[in-house]
Amino acid sequence: MNKTIKIINENPDLSIIVSMYNEEDSLDVFFEKIREALSAISDYSYEIICIDDGSIDKTYELLLDYANKDNKIKIIKFSRNFGKEYGLMAGFKFCKGRAAIPMDVDLQDPPELIIDFVKKWEDGYDMVYGIRSDRGSDTFLKRFTAKLFYKIYNMMTRSPIPYNAGDYRLIDRKIIDAILLLKERNVFMKGIFGWTGFKSCGVKYTRQKRVAGKSKWNYWKLWNFALDGITASTTFPLRIWTYLGTLLSSVGILYAIYIILRTIVQGIDVPGYASLLVFILLLGGIQMIILGILGEYIGRIFIEVKDRPIYIVEKKVNIGDE
Ligand code: UDP
Ligand code: MG
Repeated sequence: MNKTIKIINENPDLSIIVSMYNEEDSLDVFFEKIREALSAISDYSYEIICIDDGSIDKTYELLLDYANKDNKIKIIKFSRNFGKEYGLMAGFKFCKGRAAIPMDVDLQDPPELIIDFVKKWEDGYDMVYGIRSDRGSDTFLKRFTAKLFYKIYNMMTRSPIPYNAGDYRLIDRKIIDAILLLKERNVFMKGIFGWTGFKSCGVKYTRQKRVAGKSKWNYWKLWNFALDGITASTTFPLRIWTYLGTLLSSVGILYAIYIILRTIVQGIDVPGYASLLVFILLLGGIQMIILGILGEYIGRIFIEVKDRPIYIVEKKVNIGDE
C-alpha cells in the first residue's frame, strides 16, 4: 500500500510553468505543441503548472477541461490579475520537479528548445536560458529600448543579466529553492535568476510571433517594468546624486569665488540675471528628479513594509495541499 502511495507522489523530472492571462485562443495549440516536444524526451516525467492570472475569458474553463483529462496538468487560479511575475512565483512554489521551465503560453518560446535545455542540464548546468538570437518579430523600437535597458541595468548591478535572455529557461531545483527564500514583493524575475548565481549557459533561439491573441505589453508597462527591475536590484540611482551634488557644489563654490574676486576688482556688475534664472531652473529640476527617484524607492519600501501576500490563490486543481 505504502509503495503505491509513493509511486503516486513521486516527483516529476520537469515542471513546466505557464502563467496565462486571457489566453483562450492560444491554449489548444500550446498543449498540442508542448506535448509533442515533451514526447521527444519521454524518459523525463513532467507536470505542467498553469497559472490562471485572473483571466476574464474562457481560459480557466478550457484549462479545467484539460486538467480533468490529464492529472499532469495542474492549475493554480488567482483571485484576480496579479501579473506574470507573480504567476511564475506561484508556479515555483507549487512545482515538484527536479527542474522548472517557465514559459509563455503564446508559443513565442518554441517548446522544442526544451530538448536542448535538458541536454545542457544533463551536462551539469544548473540554469540554461534561452537567448533570442533574432528578435525580428519585435518592432525596432522594442528591440532598441530592450537593448538600452540591458545596458543600463548591467552597468548598475553586480549580477548582470545576459542580453536578450527572457524568462524562458530551465532552472534546477537548487535555484528554485533559492528563489523561494526571497520574501520580496517587487519581483524582477530576470534579475533574480542572475542574482542566484550557479553554473549557467545560454542556448540561442528565434523568437516566434504570437500564435493567437494580443500581447499584454505596452510601452508604459515596459517602462514601469524597467523601473521595477532597476529599483529592485540596485541603489545606484540613489547614490549617484551624492557625487553629482558634490560636483555641482564644488563648481558653485569656485564660481562664487570668481564672482567675488571680479566684483572686488571690477566693481558691481548688474546684468547676468538670465544666467541666474537658468541656474535656478536647472538646479530646481535636478532636485525634483532626485525627489522623484527617492519617491520611487520610498514607495517600494512602503509596499514591502505592508507585507501583503504577493498573490491570492482562489482554486487549485490537481495540486495536493501537502
Ligand atoms: N501574462 C500573465 N499575466 C499578465 C500578463 C501576461 O500571466 O498580467 C502571461 C501571458 O498570458 C503570456 C505571458 O505572460 O503567457 C507573456 O505575455 P505577453 O505575450 O503578453 O508578453 P510579450 O510576449 O509580448 O512580452
Ligand atoms: Mg508573448
